[in-house]
Amino acid sequence: MQRTFSIVKPDAVRKGHTGAVLAMIEAAGFRLVAIKRLSISKQQAAGFYAVHAQRPFFNSLTDFMSSGPIFVMVLEKENAIADLRKLMGATNPANAEEGTIRKKFAGSIEENTIHGSDAEETASFEIGYFFAGYELYTTT
Ligand code: ATP
Ligand code: MG
Repeated sequence: MQRTFSIVKPDAVRKGHTGAVLAMIEAAGFRLVAIKRLSISKQQAAGFYAVHAQRPFFNSLTDFMSSGPIFVMVLEKENAIADLRKLMGATNPANAEEGTIRKKFAGSIEENTIHGSDAEETASFEIGYFFAGYELYTTT
């Protein structure tokens, strides 16, 4: 079993797509280990996306991610990290495959509905950024 970290981004929450996104995730076989709704500051968004600090879109990205409520979550499944990335589709929805979350809901390369960790180390960092150990403890 592998865990990954995901965010339903502000565009999707604003448009009322949270439930539909979660339904696609569960239908694909992921177990929802933990989920919470929160609003993050621009600084908190910058800490989360620190790897992108030198990118030209960083300022706009951190404004967007702090523009409204998000849902952060931890998902579990065999091969969860790669399988979620596949279900999300390409970063730019124009390039996303049919049947992916971004193809269905994303409006632009920035406002692209969902985040998913891209590797084991980033998943650990991202889960730890938003969740404490007691929120992730499961026995079933
Ligand atoms: P995420 O990390 O959110 O799961 P990703 O791994 O597909 O998405 P990254 O390259 O890590 O894409 O970029 C992080 C986020 O930054 C993207 O999801 C998107 O919201 C935004 N972004 C990426 N490229 C651009 C761009 N060229 N212009 C504007 N925003 C961008
Ligand atoms: Mg990424």
